[in-house]
Parts: sequence; C-alpha cells; structure tokens
Amino acid sequence: MEFQFDFLVIGSGIAGLSFALKASSVGTVAIVTKKDKLETSTNYAQGGIASAIGKDDSFENHINDTLAAGDGLCKKEIVEMVVRSAPERLLELVEWGVEFNRRGDGPLDFDLGREGGHSKNRIVHAKDMTGRAIESALISAAEKNPRIRIFENHFALDLLIEYEGTKVGSYVTSQKKVCKGALIFEKETAEVHSFFAHATVLCTGGAGKVYLYTSNPDVATGDGLAMAFRAGAKLANLEFVQFHPTCLFHPKAKNFLISEAVRGEGGKLVDSKGRPFMHKYHPLGDLACRDVVARAIDTEMKNSGDDCVFLDITHKSRSFLQERFPHIYEKCLSLGIDMAKDPIPVVPAAHYMCGGILTDKWARSSIDNLYAIGECACTGLHGANRLASNSLLEAVVFSHQAYLDVKRNIESWRKDSFPEVPLSATPYYRSSTQKEQSEMVFIAHNWDVIRKIMWNYVGIVRRDKRLSLAKNHLVQIRQEINEHMPNIPLNTDAMELKNLAIVADLIIRCAIARKESRGLHYNVDHPKRDDEHWKHNTILSLDNEWEFK
Ligand SMILES: Cc1cc2nc3c(=O)[nH]c(=O)nc-3n(C[C@H](O)[C@H](O)[C@H](O)COP(=O)(O)OP(=O)(O)OC[C@H]3O[C@@H](n4cnc5c(N)ncnc54)[C@H](O)[C@@H]3O)c2cc1C
Repeated sequence: MEFQFDFLVIGSGIAGLSFALKASSVGTVAIVTKKDKLETSTNYAQGGIASAIGKDDSFENHINDTLAAGDGLCKKEIVEMVVRSAPERLLELVEWGVEFNRRGDGPLDFDLGREGGHSKNRIVHAKDMTGRAIESALISAAEKNPRIRIFENHFALDLLIEYEGTKVGSYVTSQKKVCKGALIFEKETAEVHSFFAHATVLCTGGAGKVYLYTSNPDVATGDGLAMAFRAGAKLANLEFVQFHPTCLFHPKAKNFLISEAVRGEGGKLVDSKGRPFMHKYHPLGDLACRDVVARAIDTEMKNSGDDCVFLDITHKSRSFLQERFPHIYEKCLSLGIDMAKDPIPVVPAAHYMCGGILTDKWARSSIDNLYAIGECACTGLHGANRLASNSLLEAVVFSHQAYLDVKRNIESWRKDSFPEVPLSATPYYRSSTQKEQSEMVFIAHNWDVIRKIMWNYVGIVRRDKRLSLAKNHLVQIRQEINEHMPNIPLNTDAMELKNLAIVADLIIRCAIARKESRGLHYNVDHPKRDDEHWKHNTILSLDNEWEFK
C-alpha cells in the first residue's frame, strides 16, 4: 500500500511524540513505531529533566556543568540554546498533561532533585518514574489529535531517497539527496508499504542492544542510525557510549537499573569474596562519578573472570530500604534477592549513545528533508559525555527546532510530487516463486556474538588490539548477513540484526579512529586526552571519507 502524509515520524518516544504534537498544527502526521507505542526508552527514564530553574541556580551553571561533562567536545552555542529554552519546553510538557512533582503553585515551582555532575538541584521529575509520566501524557495527547495517526507494530526498513542531479550540459555535476519517506514493514500482514512524506523525522532512540548488558529496552537496536547510514547521511561520535555502573545482574532481570542513590546511602561495591574495591580506584571511593565506577567494575571483572560484582547495602535496616527504595526492594525480592541480607549482583550496562546522526541547530541531517531528534541524533549538546538528565531535555528542545523549520518550508514542499517506488526494485521484494531458507539459526547466533564481541572488546575500557579483533569479526558477520538476508523471509529480528551489525561496525571504526582517551572513550593504549590532535568530532558516512571537525 501507499500512504501520504506531510510528516513521517519514526518512533513514539519523547522525541517523536513532541515533534508530532507540534507539527500537527501545520500538517498531517504519521507516527510509525515498531512495537507497542509505549515500548520506548522514554518510558523507562527514572531521574527526570534538567532545567536551571532553582532560586540559587542559573543558566550559566547548567551550561558550565554540561560543557565540563562533554570534555571539550560540546558545541557551546547548542548547549546555550538547549539550556536557555528548557523552562519553556517544560511548560509545554505540562500543557500536554505531564504531572511533575511540585513544591508550590507557580508555573515553574517544581521539586528539584540532584544528580551526578550537576552543581545544583535542577532535576524536574515525576517521583522516580518521570519517563512513564511523560510517555503516557504525550501518547494520550497524540491519540486525541485528529491530524496524528499512530501505526503500531510497523517497522521502518529503509528511507526513500530521491537523487536530484545538477546538470551542466549533459554532465551531472552534483547530486542532492532528498528524503521522501520510508519503506515500512507491517508485522501483522508481513507487507511492505511506502510511506511518503515531505519531511521524515528519525526518532528511533538509542542502540544499547548492541552490547551484552544494557539498561535499554529491546527496541534500542540502532535502526535509525543504520537506516541513515545506508542512505548516505553523516553520523558522528559513535565511540562515546555511556555505561551505567550498576544494572541488576540476574537471568530474569532484563535492563533493570540499581539507582546511584543506593551508593549515595552508603552501599558499597564488593567482589565475589565480599572485599570492597572502589578505594583502589578513586579517592571518593564508591561515590566517584559514573565513568570511574563503571571502569573500576569492568577492571575487577576482567581481572577476576567473574560475571558480576555486588552492591552491599545490608548495613541498612529492612524498614529503611523498603521506605527509601521501594521499587528496587520489590524487584530484587521478586528475584529472590533480599537486599537487607544479600549483596545485590550488578554489572555495568550500556546506557546511552552520545553520538548519532549528525544534525544542525534545526535538527536537520545532512540529507534534505530528513531530520533526526532524540537519542539517535548527535546535536553537539553532549560532546564526549552526557550530563545526566540532559537527554529528555535535548529531545524536546530539538523537536521544537525541527517544528520551526518544517513550518517555514511546508508550503513550498507541498508543490513537489512524490516519486514512484516499485517494490520489486527494493531489496525487500520476495517473488512468489523464490525459495526461501527456513533456517534462522544464524540470526540468533549472530545477535549473541555481536553483543558479546562489543561487550568484551569495545566496552568500557578499550585497547587497540581488542578493537582490531572486533573489527575483523564484524567484517565476517556483516558478510554472512549480506549473503543470507536476501534468502530469508522478511522479519524484524533479521532486520534488527543487520542494523545492529552496522552500528557495531561504526562504533568500532570511530573507537579505532580516536587515538586518545576523552570523555566516555577510554583506551589504555592512548590513556591521555590529546587536544592538539583530537579536539574534534569523528564524522563518517557511506559516501565520504572521514571528516574530523
Ligand atoms: C532505564 C533508563 C533510564 C533513563 N533515565 C533518564 C533520565 O532520568 N533522564 C534523561 O534525560 N534521560 C534518561 N534516559 C535516557 C532517555 O530516556 C532516552 O535518551 C530518551 O528517552 C530517548 O528518547 P527518544 O524519543 O529519542 O527514543 P525512545 O524513547 O527510545 O523511542 C524510540 C522509538 O523508536 C521506535 N523505533 C526504533 N526503531 C524503529 C524502526 N525501525 N521502525 C519503527 N520504529 C522504530 C521504538 O519502537 C520507539 O518507539 C534513560 C534511559 C534508560 C534506558
């Protein structure tokens, strides 16, 4: 089937929904989402949204904290824009129905929490389930909006790109790429549809699933990054992957975070023999910042060969733990871990992608009419390391920027027609006589292999040798995938595998390129930050050589 909308939004997290709600004032919007509409990282966000609205705070403080975390790679003008527009965007979220915790009746009288790296209390939150409050309010606003249509269980396969050549005589001197929508796979019917749109907005979230351990939900397979890369868009800074130090380690606990507040209350990290180890790594011990703690745990695990370390808060009374950490207490207990008596098994886990599709101030990618917002974008806000609770903020600020840009352009875009796209010309066509291979074992196998390679060789602490081993493995895996893919029935596991393999390969290439340690990228063979040679972004695309700027 063929669908036509003014705007095609891929993803139903905070980025997709906030853009859709705004853009619906100037056109029709389709939101496609590959699973249930609520299945997003947004829905699992705990802490909240950073905004310098406290009496003792200032935009300058928030800007400086963000720049300090970014370790020399943030774009200052972007940081300033994001920080300064935070209060206005928060008020919009409230208008859409989000209920943040308050301390008074004034419009910005929110209760403000504190997180690592912030010099002041500035985290606006809805208890410890801020993401859920945002996601449900925005979904409900979108569902009431007659100009927005949500397509659940619709998987975006690839972008539809038109090439517009500039001719001099009979020679094409340059080719401009324009995005005209995307090919979408409907899971229930197994049909591929063309969704045409004047502007396409990638809001596909992160890629935590590329690692064995992650705090991210299953949808975070980097599809947007892979689609944008295949289409020829520029991607940047993929080596900067943020790891959360303490994710619950249990076969039945998928993606469950043990909050940093547990260490804040005196919890100690210990090895399998109960020996504390953080004092060996940092004067602040267990209260060192996220990266230091994640690196220390990684080193302990690599040295001992153990699968996890433990977080011991058994010195606190049961009643205190039940009162202070009700959610964590219940979750642990449901898995047979009594945190009042047992140390909690934890591992660091891939948490957030600082890099992504390179965008400008208006959320525009390097391909015309293709935008990227939220975790899949690289806007220049985070640089080499994200300051906690800046990502939900980034998503709403850039949704607004993109909205302003499409509003300016939509009338002229409507004069253009959509191209013809015969499905038989796409790699997703399967003829009725084609003999399909029924064996799918290579999909499950390669999913596991990629995630283990990335964890062991491209994780928190890197080495040149491990990175080069990972690169060789990925070349083979990508070859295998390319050979098998045309012969198997279209299915989302296979597509996600193909995307994961591309994203893994790109992370490895960026990590190999950066010959220094900065922010989240730590390579023991190049342990120092090197501003003389490396104070720039690692930008790569299918068509171009590397750009470092
Ligand atoms: C456990 C956890 C806690 C966090 N806590 C905080 C916090 O306190 N504060 C903060 O600022 N940040 C936090 N973050 C990070 C933040 O939640 C995310 O960066 C943010 O929610 C990303 O929003 P998004 O809209 O870009 O993507 P998401 O919310 O992840 O949405 C992605 C959407 O894209 C869809 N999608 C993906 N691929 C396809 C495809 N091929 N076809 C169709 N649809 C597709 C998905 O189905 C989903 O709907 C946390 C993250 C996690 C995982």
